[in-house]
Amino acid sequence: MADLTALRSLVSGPVLEPADAGFAEEAGGFNTAVVHTVDLVVGAMNAQDVAHAVSFARDAGLRVRVQATGHGAEAPIVGGMLVTTKRLDSLAVDAAAKVATIGSGVRWAAVVAAAADVNLAPITGSSANVGAVGYLTGGGLGPLARSHGFSSDYVRGFTVVTGNGEIVEATPDENADLFWALRGGRRGLGIVTEARVALVELDELYAGSLTFAEEHIETVVRAWVDWSATAPSDVTTSIAVFRFPDLDFMPPPLRGRTLLGLRFAYPGTSEDGERLAAPLRDAAPVYLDSLGVLAARDVAQIHNDPTNPGPGWASGALLADIDQDFVTAWLGQVGSGKQVPLLGAEIRHIGSATQTDVVGGSAVGGRPASYTFTLIGAPNPALFADVVPAAADIVYAAIAPWLSPESTINFVGVARPGQTGEPWSADTQARLIEVRKAHDPHGVFATA
Ligand SMILES: Cc1cc2nc3c(=O)[nH]c(=O)nc-3n(C[C@H](O)[C@H](O)[C@H](O)COP(=O)(O)OP(=O)(O)OC[C@H]3O[C@@H](n4cnc5c(N)ncnc54)[C@H](O)[C@@H]3O)c2cc1C
Repeated sequence: MADLTALRSLVSGPVLEPADAGFAEEAGGFNTAVVHTVDLVVGAMNAQDVAHAVSFARDAGLRVRVQATGHGAEAPIVGGMLVTTKRLDSLAVDAAAKVATIGSGVRWAAVVAAAADVNLAPITGSSANVGAVGYLTGGGLGPLARSHGFSSDYVRGFTVVTGNGEIVEATPDENADLFWALRGGRRGLGIVTEARVALVELDELYAGSLTFAEEHIETVVRAWVDWSATAPSDVTTSIAVFRFPDLDFMPPPLRGRTLLGLRFAYPGTSEDGERLAAPLRDAAPVYLDSLGVLAARDVAQIHNDPTNPGPGWASGALLADIDQDFVTAWLGQVGSGKQVPLLGAEIRHIGSATQTDVVGGSAVGGRPASYTFTLIGAPNPALFADVVPAAADIVYAAIAPWLSPESTINFVGVARPGQTGEPWSADTQARLIEVRKAHDPHGVFATA
């Protein structure tokens, strides 16, 4: 390792080696099952810190990765430098321009709250705990995917540290190739220090979830699949079979039960929303009903994703389309009465706005798809090496006819069986390689 004295004198945040106090905490994140064993962690306080760290890594021959919250940590990073951005917490909302300027350590929750204060909303994912910038570099499919598209469609510009250690702007007019790539192309493109994101006018929506007991799972899933085939373009729904552990921290109505969650989000009037949701509500007796008028600032309540760090395992893909034969195959593995080491098996309905590219295009993968597919392992890290992946392989084999060849990086997680190469289309992948070469000629940033 090169002498760190010079780097420490240039960087205002912590520069930590494995033996240093605070190293594990600095390198740790949301997924506690993944422990990074890098050579060096640099806790950036500002864009200049990031630039100094990248320049040092280039000269020292260290491969660089970046982490904000660790929601995307799927496998341990071994060796090299990790730049953490959690201290880049600047956030400003320009209500007149309807734009949020977001530091790369900011989580969606802060953006949602600041935008809601001026009756605006960002297009987020299901969890407000995820880092906004990391999420945006992967595209982003959230509870408003069908009405509003990929979240990355709303990015107006990035400030980025390139592989040369330079701080540059990536916008439609400046470094337009990098701007195209960062909207969904994520890997090996640089470290974003700030993103400018368009906000939409949204005060409230008709949204929430309907939960059904185990004995009604098949009836509701079959009804939802038929309903979603002709669903209006501005309604976004998803379903998930959950096997909630019988553990003390689980709320009593969920603890130890297998349940079906059906999420619904409609950015229109409550009268129209209620009418649109009626066939789903009537599909079977509802066990828990939280579907109604929801303030836009409470958008994370639609999915109620976990907010506390813990062990996580997820693997996902996209589906071109689904039908009743898919339901038979899927529930044959994850439905009522099955013993599988999976906390969740989720299908989200996308399409509509996600299928329309932005002016100038973007690298985001998955525009042709109509549904997402995700498996979440039982939250026991002892099962993550063999038991959970083996169970997931069986589910993937059963639903193989419906899988899309292309995926979208935020939904990949642990690679599915037989998945080789990158999740983007061949054309996009070829173009991403060119953009990486142009902005990281020395290959400083990790690409996988
Ligand atoms: C509970 C949960 C819910 C989720 N829900 C959704 C959802 O609804 N929709 C969706 O699309 N995705 C969802 N995801 C996936 C999530 O969006 C991605 O994992 C995303 O990458 C997380 O970003 P992060 O910065 O929080 O995580 P991190 O693990 O810190 O970063 C993940 C990756 O993002 C990139 N990255 C982070 N910061 C930067 C930066 N400053 N510059 C350049 N690249 C950067 C890096 O490649 C990094 O490896 C969810 C994940 C979890 C765990």
